Amino acid sequence: MAKKTNKNPMAQMSWSLNIKCPKCKRDIDLADVDDDGVYSEPIFNNRWDDLIDEEVCCPNCDHEFFIGGVEY
Ligand SMILES: [Zn+2]
Repeated sequence: MAKKTNKNPMAQMSWSLNIKCPKCKRDIDLADVDDDGVYSEPIFNNRWDDLIDEEVCCPNCDHEFFIGGVEY
């Protein structure tokens, strides 16, 4: 943990990566189901295309599908 060196306000980073399940049509935030950094690691290293064909298991209906690509 980096030591705070001044009293300036800390910037808070938040992120989300939303995709719609093709089966149940509900929105999934992949940031919420990203236990191993499978989704965040390519995003934060500017390798978004690595997520093409990455598997997603819908937390709502257990349907498994693949990411077509990432848009901003
Ligand atoms: Zn689903």
